[in-house]
Amino acid sequence: MQSLLSFLPDSWHAGPGILIGFGLLAAVMVQTALAVIGSLRRQAQARHQFQLERERLAYEVRLAKSRWTQIEHEKSSWNGWRKFRVVKKAAECADVFSFVLQPHDGKSIPAFKPGQYLTFGLDIPGRDKQVVRCYSLSSPPSDASSYRVTIKKEKAPPDKPGVPDGVGSSFFVDSVREGDLLNVKAPTGHFHLETAKQSPVVLISAGVGITPVLSMALDIAATGSRRETWFFFVCRNRSDHMLKAELDQLAARAENIRVVVCYSKPGPNDVQGRDYHTAGRLTPDVLKSVLPSNNYDYYLCGNGSFMKTMYEGLTEWGVPDAKIHYEAFGPATIKKTNATPPATTATGAGAKAVQVTFGKSGKVVAWDPATLNLLDFALANEVRIDSGCRAGSCGSCSVAVKQGEVEYLGGETNVGEAGSCLTCICRPKTDLVLDA
Ligand SMILES: Cc1cc2nc3c(=O)[nH]c(=O)nc-3n(C[C@H](O)[C@H](O)[C@H](O)COP(=O)(O)OP(=O)(O)OC[C@H]3O[C@@H](n4cnc5c(N)ncnc54)[C@H](O)[C@@H]3O)c2cc1C
Repeated sequence: MQSLLSFLPDSWHAGPGILIGFGLLAAVMVQTALAVIGSLRRQAQARHQFQLERERLAYEVRLAKSRWTQIEHEKSSWNGWRKFRVVKKAAECADVFSFVLQPHDGKSIPAFKPGQYLTFGLDIPGRDKQVVRCYSLSSPPSDASSYRVTIKKEKAPPDKPGVPDGVGSSFFVDSVREGDLLNVKAPTGHFHLETAKQSPVVLISAGVGITPVLSMALDIAATGSRRETWFFFVCRNRSDHMLKAELDQLAARAENIRVVVCYSKPGPNDVQGRDYHTAGRLTPDVLKSVLPSNNYDYYLCGNGSFMKTMYEGLTEWGVPDAKIHYEAFGPATIKKTNATPPATTATGAGAKAVQVTFGKSGKVVAWDPATLNLLDFALANEVRIDSGCRAGSCGSCSVAVKQGEVEYLGGETNVGEAGSCLTCICRPKTDLVLDA
């Protein structure tokens, strides 16, 4: 003790009383400091709580406003064709253009659900029939005065010389100009985000399949939703990277939205970190390596084989069927695990696959139960049938049934014109002869 005290200044050698005094003073100071820290912490917590509450209220106000706008806009919906003017045509990347449309009558337009599409009735010079095609809205519903679609020119298959490029998409890309008027049906479609929910989502797209899921992500950002959102997009490289500026802004603006871009074949000047995040195809393994768990609602859009791989990978990973939502722009055979059993002409050991005869094309093919509908089955067997919405509403894929019966996937009866079927939403019930 003596040696310890020898380090203290002389005035401090007054005795243990002073030491006790210092001890008490130190204890009071520590207690005061703890009280101050505690009070600061409580204040910070209260501030944080207040901030959260304010954000929650602001979000609810925005949601209420957007519901009100939606109700107001639903009143301005329409039946049949309505004229829309192309007010802007903008190149997005090679062969892809966006078109901003406003109603020619100058009246208001209905809000849509992010993920829905517009149906166009195209009067293409040299064609005796209107060409009906559907294009997803790539803008968010918060754009109350206009709609935007983003369209890729569908080139002829390289292995089929002499075949023309896609009719509708070529017309848009090559011929439609700013100021032109187009026939448009009101937004529709079952593939849309449940905006009332706050559960986490994963949005996955390939190529031009980005359009409906971009609208979903833009809606999440525009409404200020705190919903955890992952946005995966794959394209070949920078030259195919459509809507890049918008994706970059989305990633920078909303911290609950994380964007992952994959380039399947990066170009020599493409920079990882600036242009894309991962090189190679977007596969279920990429999702597994990035996502913290499989517990999300998944929205997929891309070509048939991409979606099939994704769907199968997600199912294997334990994602329930009800949490996987998808839309195909073209033929797709995603076999859902709850799909109805294969159509056969009899049951038991003597069961025989149903035969589909395409009269005009002179083809007789055994029905493949893994195929979703007669339209995809026809296209898979190189029988051309026109199509539009792929949802049974536009009537473009209607084909006369010369013999046999079909069944509708949603169990509908009395669909379309008598003696014909809407091939995009039905499958054979018995052996069939179609006028295709
Ligand atoms: C709900 C929905 C939303 C969609 N959203 C979008 C979107 O946002 N953006 C987008 O770009 N697309 C979208 N699509 C796809 C779009 O509707 C069209 O299917 C696409 O543009 C191709 O139409 P097309 O008229 O250009 O091609 P089609 O004329 O229908 O031709 C399709 C393909 O067949 C080839 N072909 C033509 N003739 C023959 C022949 N005799 N033999 C073999 N092959 C032939 C063509 O070269 C072309 O490659 C969507 C589709 C749906 C159903």
